Amino acid sequence: MAVVFALFLTGLFFSNQAFANEQPFKQWLADLKNEAAGKGISAKTLDEALTGIEPIPRVIELDRRQPEFTLTFRDYMDRMVNAKRIVKAQTTIRANAKLLNEVAAKYGVQPQYLVAFWGLETDFGRLASGYFPVIPALATLAHDSRRGKFFRGQLIDALRILDGGHIDLARMKGSWAGAMGHFQFIPSTFNAYAIDYDGDGKRDIWTNNKDALASAANFLANSGWQRDEIWGREVKVEDSFDFTNVSLKIKKPLSAWQALGVRRINGKDLPKADVMASLLAPAGHVGPKFLVYGNFRAIMRWNQSQFYALAIGHLADRIIGKGPLSTLGPRDEKSLSFAQSEELQQLLIDAGYDPGPADGIIGSMTRDAIRAFQKDNAIVPDGHPSAEVLARIRAKNP
Ligand code: CA
Repeated sequence: MAVVFALFLTGLFFSNQAFANEQPFKQWLADLKNEAAGKGISAKTLDEALTGIEPIPRVIELDRRQPEFTLTFRDYMDRMVNAKRIVKAQTTIRANAKLLNEVAAKYGVQPQYLVAFWGLETDFGRLASGYFPVIPALATLAHDSRRGKFFRGQLIDALRILDGGHIDLARMKGSWAGAMGHFQFIPSTFNAYAIDYDGDGKRDIWTNNKDALASAANFLANSGWQRDEIWGREVKVEDSFDFTNVSLKIKKPLSAWQALGVRRINGKDLPKADVMASLLAPAGHVGPKFLVYGNFRAIMRWNQSQFYALAIGHLADRIIGKGPLSTLGPRDEKSLSFAQSEELQQLLIDAGYDPGPADGIIGSMTRDAIRAFQKDNAIVPDGHPSAEVLARIRAKNP
């Protein structure tokens, strides 16, 4: 799941050698087995799951990969919320209406959101069965030193799932990093939130739609989801709008946004509801603007990417027949390369701003640091990682 994808994305520039574990895999595995036995996992499960396993080199390769390009908001949305996906999502919501309505009533998450997550995570279950055997994949990452501690915990959690009889070893497959089933739960998320909805004694998120959908809804309910609220909406701002207000860190009541000149996309007043909201401009000041509410923050507990959360919200809207966004941002925009994003972050650090680690990932911290730099240099402070910002900060650091 997604909750930890941002973790997976950090530190992409490290070489394999830097994280080689000095302890041979077999010896390491014997220690791990002892630890798991001490935590109450049965000898039968440990023997079955761990005997004879070997590290998977492809998993280390995938862990070390670095993307060449980052996607613009337009590219990302075209990929995630295109016509084909909307149609498939609408077919899916009709085909599963009874179950979705039941789960929605019980956990308080509207069907269109559950289906949106289903689409983005596994193409509505098409990719749910997974490719990598979870135990060897997690053992590979747990033995590796880079994030060994995190994955050791996930491996123990995965062994606990097996021990609970929720899935057979042969069918316990997932992503290279151990994300499993229809909604790509990592083992710790499974143990905390997965649900046996059909009551057969197994929490089967791999092949049972009922268990899978209830599990996703349960996760969201526990992340603060509000059943009677939407995620947010696209808005328009007046020309004089002060873009220093654009940040997930800044929350204001709708009445305050109204006073700052924010309106519904059709130009009408904002709703007179007692709702706290943040304003986002994911493609910069020339692109679409959004007011986002509490449910948007719940989506970001699933996946920390603003683009991902906006894609979920927008896909959910499209599923129930709402229209397209007014714009996806400029057509000719070229995104920064991964290396340029890293360079931008490093230059921000050198200039005394705090974009977080220079890891090439443009998250909320980097956007806030860009905004501070823009404000200090009389550029529209929209926090957008544009080529212009990179050129300006390069010129200041010759
Ligand atoms: Ca079940």
